[in-house]
Amino acid sequence: MAEQIYQQALLRLEQAAEYSKAAPETVERLKRPKRILEVSVPVRMDDGSERVFTGFRVQHDNTRGPAKGGIRYHHTVHLDEVKALAFWMSFKCACVGIPFGGGKGGVIVDPRKLSMLEIERLSRRYIREIAPIIGPDTDVPAPDVYTNARIMAWMMDEYSALAGQPTPAVITGKPVSRGGSIGRDDATARGGFYIIGELADRRGWKASEVRIAIQGFGNAGQQFAKLASGAGYRIVAVSDSSGAIHCEKGFDVDALIKSKDKSGKVTDHSEGDKIDADKLLELDVEILVPAALEGVITKDNASNIKAKTVLELANGPTTPEADEILADADTLVIPDILANAGGVTVSYFEWTQNKSSYYWNKERVHDELKTIMTREFSAVHDLKEDRGITMRTAAYTHALDRLADAHEATGTRSDF
Ligand code: GLU
Repeated sequence: MAEQIYQQALLRLEQAAEYSKAAPETVERLKRPKRILEVSVPVRMDDGSERVFTGFRVQHDNTRGPAKGGIRYHHTVHLDEVKALAFWMSFKCACVGIPFGGGKGGVIVDPRKLSMLEIERLSRRYIREIAPIIGPDTDVPAPDVYTNARIMAWMMDEYSALAGQPTPAVITGKPVSRGGSIGRDDATARGGFYIIGELADRRGWKASEVRIAIQGFGNAGQQFAKLASGAGYRIVAVSDSSGAIHCEKGFDVDALIKSKDKSGKVTDHSEGDKIDADKLLELDVEILVPAALEGVITKDNASNIKAKTVLELANGPTTPEADEILADADTLVIPDILANAGGVTVSYFEWTQNKSSYYWNKERVHDELKTIMTREFSAVHDLKEDRGITMRTAAYTHALDRLADAHEATGTRSDF
């Protein structure tokens, strides 16, 4: 499956190329990542033994700015997946117009089976191994699936030790006490939430009548549930790797997060009924929010999806075949490169704050994030309407036009 992901990502580029002003050679360039690094990461375990993990860092493109993108810890990490994730980051940053290229990292590991100290040793060693190709002006990592602010702090500390000076701008998503930005923790969800607000205004939705199902209850899923229920929307179903639960009147989200924190499983929560995790995607709801991993909406289940709006907080949750089925059913899919771009947008704010050593307050972070998300959502929506294409193809076309401007301004430039 991972092998297909990169090919599927390229399909979206080819579809957008039909509508974009990009020259064929720009499209050709964007089909290949700029640089791939595979590293072995030996780690001393708590019992005294040594284990060797495999890690990657892929830089897809850096024409519009330093490569940018998270680091994922997961036992299913695969080079082709990391390539696709890096590719999506180039398009995501271009889609919302922030001055970054695309990159991504990953380590093949199940962090739930490691102790805190083992994760610290793994994180420090991984960053040392990829240090030769990252830096505040070249490639700036961040959190992704199963990595968090604490891990970013260890990585920043390790890189700074190597560099011989504090280098906060080498990584984003750090704790606020170590140069992180206020508002980075819920930024991915908040960006998607602002988009839902725009849609609600255009369509005259009443929040209490809008039912939402969320697949995946990690950082993005939980924060989105909090924001949406705070605004009166009904969160009627959530899932994680333990299974799914459903409550038609809507969950008390704070209580749900508390039980998830306590036991690690949404299925241990007292409210609601257990349902089959796959069935969550097919529930009778207004909005479906995939917020976990790629490839969950496929040709096998797309025709059963009842939600008329899909907000992709995860990267790559919908396959190209499923896209066609959903488009035929008039389902609006807000694509990942737009829907979840709030995270990297606040990473950009964090990076500029680190570079200037001037720190923003929460209001400024939220205002500037809202401005960018609503502006780019409107641009993509207008393009979709003008050209009669899907939101995804419009988002890719919008991004590709920006990538083309940058590529074609310098041609086959000398590179770093
Ligand atoms: N991992 C997040 C994403 O996929 C954030 C990346 C970043 O902030 O650089 O967009």
